[in-house]
Amino acid sequence: MAKWSEQSLEQTARLKMLKVRGCSYSSVTCNDLCNVADLFRAAAEASPHHILKLYKANGSVVNISPMLEPNSQDSYYRLEVVASDLQSIGVKSDVDNMESRLCHLETKVQQDAGNTPEIIDNLKSQVESFKRKLESVKHLSWMGLFRDESPQQLSKFPAKAKGLQLNIEEEHREVRKKFLNMSSLRVIEEVRQQLKTPMFDNWQWEEPEMLVLLQVMFTDLDFLTVFHIEVDVLQNFLFEVYCHYNNIPFHNFQHCFCVTQMMYGLIWLTDIWSKLDPMDLLILLTSALCHDLDHPGYSNVYQINAQTDLALRYNDISPLENHHCAVAFGILAKEESNILKHVTTEQYKHIRAGMIRCILATDMARHNEILNKFKSVQPVFDFRNKDHTEVLMKIMVKVSDISNEARPMAVAEPWLDCLLQEFFNQGDAEKLKGLPVTPFMDRDKVSKPSSQTSFIRFVLLPLFTEITKLFPCLEQHILEPVRRALEYYSDLERATQQEAAAAVANKP
Ligand code: 5GP
Ligand code: MN
Repeated sequence: MAKWSEQSLEQTARLKMLKVRGCSYSSVTCNDLCNVADLFRAAAEASPHHILKLYKANGSVVNISPMLEPNSQDSYYRLEVVASDLQSIGVKSDVDNMESRLCHLETKVQQDAGNTPEIIDNLKSQVESFKRKLESVKHLSWMGLFRDESPQQLSKFPAKAKGLQLNIEEEHREVRKKFLNMSSLRVIEEVRQQLKTPMFDNWQWEEPEMLVLLQVMFTDLDFLTVFHIEVDVLQNFLFEVYCHYNNIPFHNFQHCFCVTQMMYGLIWLTDIWSKLDPMDLLILLTSALCHDLDHPGYSNVYQINAQTDLALRYNDISPLENHHCAVAFGILAKEESNILKHVTTEQYKHIRAGMIRCILATDMARHNEILNKFKSVQPVFDFRNKDHTEVLMKIMVKVSDISNEARPMAVAEPWLDCLLQEFFNQGDAEKLKGLPVTPFMDRDKVSKPSSQTSFIRFVLLPLFTEITKLFPCLEQHILEPVRRALEYYSDLERATQQEAAAAVANKP
């Protein structure tokens, strides 16, 4: 699938070429490791506002931290100042200034000499290439590298901020129009059936179509009748949910759709719709839909280490999941999108508590706690026991959330590209800010096979095996495809290792 190819991963890697000023260090020894960053800053004559990047001799980026290994003549470090005085300069506008000064100079030289000297052409192409590199790291704009697009700057230029906002609003309006136009069409039976299995291919569908399919899920589970939901309120709710997902590589509206569709599949495949209260079914589907609302693309670990507003607001306790849930109830607080407006107070309390439980359970930091609880009730599982159904519901949301590898390879693999793209964006940001680099997000250490073999072995298989004990029919639907994916990525990992070993052996 061209739109999610490896190219997009490479684009972010170009950040490494961003070089304002370069300097090489053949030997750095530092006894006082606490001051290592200051030492480098002083050596580079950089101010506290400069951002430094350190590279190994092989070109990989090293985190400047007290853990930095001393180096030698053979394993020298290279230091670069990659951006300067972010608070007051603004890299992009500087490049724009430089470009206009060059144009001015070119005109003047042309007038005096009659032609453009080669040196001016060279300078122009350097400025052009620097601008292209800046474009390729736009995902880091929130760090202030692009002063004219950072939130603070946008607030100083209301017209520009308004322009960007208008683009998004225009796009949303277009999606809403198409969604409403299509929603009266009948979705064919074949699609309705596919929608109930993990074989469904999300990549074939546009956003307005996905909204229609979500409407089908709510309708076919009979929620409109049971909870007296008006069609236009459901449509407003779904549209608001769509608007509150961000345009980021992985945790976007497509991911929300996939998780909800997998939940819908599980509900039908396991026949659980005949065993649970309709309120619990509504909790399951709505939690899946809302579970990553307004995800910023940077994990809880990042939020906590960078002391972001979310971490401060939620005292470092599942800041993202608390936020997703709060945004969901913000949408439900609006009369026109409140699908719960006709339920009783008691029902509302039950649904709200259930959704909070299910969404907070998607914090992977709680994975073992929840899986162990499920394992402990498994041998005596009873659908009439509230404790048992509550943990089962958490497990179902978790299974849906991390179920990409249960899908056909052609559907699952592009999702992995998206996930790694988001991971590597975070790894880059952590390096730039001098924060601890999340190991599985470091582009210098992680590959597709290495990422998947451990995730499947240690997270997916134990979880999917446990739910399959309760619902044996899931063996063919989710467990077998995941085993096949493990085989595929293990083969790939072995081949990569053999290739690397052969390359070392062939070195003269
Ligand atoms: P989410 O952030 O989507 O609510 O929680 C799921 C988390 O599980 C993701 O952020 C990611 O860290 C991890 N995850 C989900 N699917 C995969 C996968 O296919 N491979 C790997 N390596 N991690 C995954
Ligand atoms: Mn998710």
